[in-house]
Order: sequence, then C-alpha cells, then structure tokens
Amino acid sequence: TSEIVWLRRDLRRHDLPTLAAAAERSGSVAPVFVLDPAFWDTAGAPRRTWLARTLMALRDSYEGRLTLRLGDPQALLPEIAGEFGATSVHISTETEPQGAARDAAAGTALRERGVTLVATGSPYAVTPGRIRRADGEPYQVFTPFSRGWRDHGWRAPAEEPADLRLADDRSDPSAWEVVAQAACCDEVQLPEAGEAAAQERWEWFLDEGLERYGHDRDRPDLDGTSRMSVYLKFGVVHPRTLLADLEARTGTGPERYRLELAWREFYADVLHHHPDSLWQDLRPALTHMRYDEPGAAVEAWRQGRTGFPIVDAAMRQLLGEGWMHNRLRMVVASFLIKHLHTRWQVGADHFLDRLADADLASNQHGWQWVAGTGTDAAPYFRVFNPILQGQKFDPNGDFVRRWVPELRPIDGAAVHEPWRTALARDLDYPTPIIDLKAERAEALERLSEARDAR
Ligand code: FAD
Repeated sequence: TSEIVWLRRDLRRHDLPTLAAAAERSGSVAPVFVLDPAFWDTAGAPRRTWLARTLMALRDSYEGRLTLRLGDPQALLPEIAGEFGATSVHISTETEPQGAARDAAAGTALRERGVTLVATGSPYAVTPGRIRRADGEPYQVFTPFSRGWRDHGWRAPAEEPADLRLADDRSDPSAWEVVAQAACCDEVQLPEAGEAAAQERWEWFLDEGLERYGHDRDRPDLDGTSRMSVYLKFGVVHPRTLLADLEARTGTGPERYRLELAWREFYADVLHHHPDSLWQDLRPALTHMRYDEPGAAVEAWRQGRTGFPIVDAAMRQLLGEGWMHNRLRMVVASFLIKHLHTRWQVGADHFLDRLADADLASNQHGWQWVAGTGTDAAPYFRVFNPILQGQKFDPNGDFVRRWVPELRPIDGAAVHEPWRTALARDLDYPTPIIDLKAERAEALERLSEARDAR
C-alpha cells in the first residue's frame, strides 16, 4: 500500500511538507495530480500551456512516478485511493473559495471510503486566516498585516524524508496526451517550466538582481524583478524557500522583496476572509459609480492598439509573454477603469485569461486596488497619466520599441508621444483613441456623482 500526495498548487518535490506527512504513515508515497475539467476547460491558453509544461517537468522530478488522471477529483480520488490501498490523502490547505469547496467535497467522498484527507501547510509562508489583530479580527490594511506576518514567522524549508519510496505510476495515458497537446503550443513565449528552471532563475536573481531590486523593480525596460510569479503560481517554488534564502541578507533589496511576498500573502488572507471579493467590490465606496459597457475602445486596449505607447507595449507584452511588469499592470488597469470608464472586473477577466501567473487573490485585489474599491486601495481620483508613466519608468523608450515595432523608427523618449514627432504621419500606428484630459475630467465627474448618490 501507498499513501497519496494529491498535488495541486504545489507542483514540486523540494520543500514539500506533505511528502513527509504521507511518508510517516507508509514507506511508499504516490504523487497524484488530477486534471480537473472545472479548471482546465476554463483556464486561458497560456495558463493551460504553462500547467502542462509544469506537469511534464514534475513527472521528471518524480522519476516518472507521477500519477495523472483526468476528471472530477471528488469522483476520482476515492477510486485512486482504492487502487493504491491508501488510508490517507495528503494535501496542502487551499483557501481560495473554489478550491476549498472542492477539497471539502473530496474530503467527504474519501471519508465515505474510510480514507482521511490530511492537510499540511499551504501555498503561503503563513496559511491565510492565521494572522489576526490583537482583537481577533482580520487585518484590513497591508502595513500592520505585514508586521503581524513577520512576527508570526514561518517554518524552515521541509527536508525530503530520507527513506522516501515512490509508488509506481498509475496514470491514465490519455490524460498525458491532453497535457502533451497543450504543452506543445508556442503562441506565447513562456519561461522554462519546472523546479530546476525556477531555481536557476532565482539564483540568478539573488546574484544579479536582488541588490538593485529596490531601484530597478519599477523599470519595465530592465530585467529588474525576479519573475518568480509564474513559478509561485503552481507552487513550483514555495515562498518559504525564497524567504529562507533571503534570511541572511540585509539592505533595501531583500527588505523590499520580502514586502512584495507579503503582499501576495495579504491578498490571499483578504480573499480567505472575503470570498465574495473575487468579483464584487470589497468596499462599497463606489457602488453608484457609472461605468460604460465594453466596446471598441476596450477591444483596442486588449489588442494593444490604443495609440498610447506604454499601454500598448504593456498589453502586447501580456499577449506575447503571458506576463506583464507590475508597474504596467497598474498603468493599464488605471487606463481601462478611469480613462475608458470600464468596470475593474472586465480587465481582471482579461488578465485571468492571458496571464500565465494568473492568481485569483493577487489579480482580483490588484485590480480592486487600482479601482479604489479594495483594501488599502489607491483613491479613485488618482488617475495615472500613461504618457508621464511611460516617460518616468521607460525613460529611453526601449520597452516601447521592444513591443511596438511600428514605433521603432522613433529614437529615445520621444516614442512616448509619437504624434509630436515629424515621423508621425508615416507610422502605421493608431492615433490616440481618447483625449486623456477630457476622460480624466469625466472620471472625476462620475466620481463626484457616485459620492453624491450615496
Ligand atoms: P517581483 O517584483 O519579483 O515580486 C516577487 C513576488 O512578490 C512576485 O512573484 C509575487 O508573488 C509577489 N508580488 C509582487 N508584487 C505583488 C503585488 N502587487 N501583489 C501581490 N503579490 C505581489 N501577481 C500574480 O502573481 N498574479 C496575478 O494574477 C497578478 N495580477 C495583478 C493584477 C494587477 C492589476 C496588479 C496591479 C498586480 C497584479 N499582480 C499579480 C502582482 C504583481 O504585478 C506580480 O506579482 C509581479 O509583477 C510578478 O512579477 P515578478 O515575479 O517578477 O515580481
């Protein structure tokens, strides 16, 4: 007999506490992944490709002994447990609403067959829900949360049990065919999948990026951030592993990096306490806000054809890489919500569809932050000017030229305002779809209407 480790957002072998928990009960452990159509059929193509490649790399991590099945986990897991003679199925705790509901249903189905579902750890350094204010209430604001999170602390990375034996693979070959098909498509340039690739990028960042992270993290033209989000997404690397590597390091880079990881933990905590905030405003401040239905302008935004170079470059980076720089996520979100008067949910939905690192908690709350409806949110009246943002954070225009080839004939920062250059008429590039000043004024007008209506 073998005990089962049911992998979901923990697609790794290194620093995986559930392996030790399962091995304690039996010498033999069966790593299992269930490709759930509820996820697979609704995930955007980049995320499916990324998951498929990650699963193929994971099979190598487990020396070919990863059992893959296709179907509803609630129905399949009791069967799989029966096949392995397992008395327990080990998971890391899922606190996202849909995943938590799936686990509750799977737990009931397993119990009926005499199998226990055992949760150890979570995809976070501190499991969402653990950190509370002195009065027992959850935090609403990031900075005190981050202090509480630090004070709470986290475990050291888990060692793999010395005597671990992996059970034989009992995959359904047709499930691997589905995966192989999704893995092959190259329409988006994704980084290399798997633990070794994540580790390599992380070590590069520790050596080359971390010291300048405090300065460079806002510059999309530089390779100034860790690019760990796609690996954190499916738990190819655990934040605890990253935090352990940062422990001995001081200075603004490591300090800032820990804080960014704390944002990820904060948003997961917020979602745990407010599952409705996935699609509803977290704070009711803008309930009466008047938004427009998405039309041609929103489609131009999706395609990167708004006529505003930094917005278009960013949206094309999203389409091309399944990733977008954090500064630009804020800029394009502000443009959609405030200049195009569109609900944040429309943009959040597009991001979920196109991002390989699409993460429900970080994405929905990142959007709510910009919209002015979230925790700690930027006030609605703060409207980013995309021209100034471009000039400030892409000072030589290199990022724009990388993603908008039509603008390559323009040198330097002038690329942020192509309409001012002598080349303007010869460029095959859209003229701006809106008047920034007029739409900013319109946004503020709508804000004051919404406030009056309260
Ligand atoms: P780094 O700068 O190297 O940061 C390290 C890690 O810290 C990231 O990998 C991430 O896990 C975490 N982090 C950094 N910034 C944030 C943040 N603002 N909120 C939460 N966690 C953060 N992040 C996602 O992982 N998935 C999403 O779907 C997502 N959607 C977003 C949508 C909007 C509108 C905004 C404003 C932000 C969103 N973010 C999202 C947060 C952030 O943009 C990305 O985590 C970051 O750009 C990933 O690149 P990196 O790994 O190089 O980041």
